[in-house]
Amino acid sequence: MKNWTTKNGCKIYQVLSLRSNAFLIKAGKLNILVDTGRKSTYNKLLKKLSILDCTSIDYLILTHTHYDHCQNAFALKELYKCKIVASMFESDFTMAGLTPVPKGTVAPARMISALGRMLGDKIAGYKPFNADMIVGEHLDLKDKGLDIDIIHTPGHSPGSISVIIENEIAIVGDTLFGVLPCSVFPPFADDITQMKESWKKLQDTGCSLFLPGHGREIKKERLAEKEN
Ligand SMILES: [Zn+2]
Repeated sequence: MKNWTTKNGCKIYQVLSLRSNAFLIKAGKLNILVDTGRKSTYNKLLKKLSILDCTSIDYLILTHTHYDHCQNAFALKELYKCKIVASMFESDFTMAGLTPVPKGTVAPARMISALGRMLGDKIAGYKPFNADMIVGEHLDLKDKGLDIDIIHTPGHSPGSISVIIENEIAIVGDTLFGVLPCSVFPPFADDITQMKESWKKLQDTGCSLFLPGHGREIKKERLAEKEN
């Protein structure tokens, strides 16, 4: 299983890959899951967690609430009694169990987006839930003994957030896309201008590596190239 370690020994495991990524952060005695994948990958996710001897989840952080990132949130909360951390700008969506499909940024994605909007909760729905910890512009978890900072990085969706781990590695959801070697630009975004401002915010952190919601890790230099 792909994994990364910070200088202070915090481990990050990629527990889901392919269609949507999910990551487990092991920091001391705490286990923090970032994103859940879609419903069809629930069993796979549990299997990966058991391989890592992970029998408890303390926090579930959602980089945003599109169905392919949060469709298992309700079930995981039931199972682990974990606290869900999500943006205040997506609370209405999670209470309704449907986050609008974002706009396409390129022609084929525009068609998929239009279709997704038409089908609504038939494809993009999930079991409604409430977040236990709400992120506005910023939330740090120092009082939980964690060197983890969560920052608002909107654009792909109104409440997209990024998880900054020890100011070294960031889990960024769909703010960056890691599928194509030539581009970090997501095929879907509600507000491209806002998203580019969020890229700057990420650049201004000390992080040298970004783990996206889809595809492979992105080095800071690569983001810098794309930003200009
Ligand atoms: Zn998304």
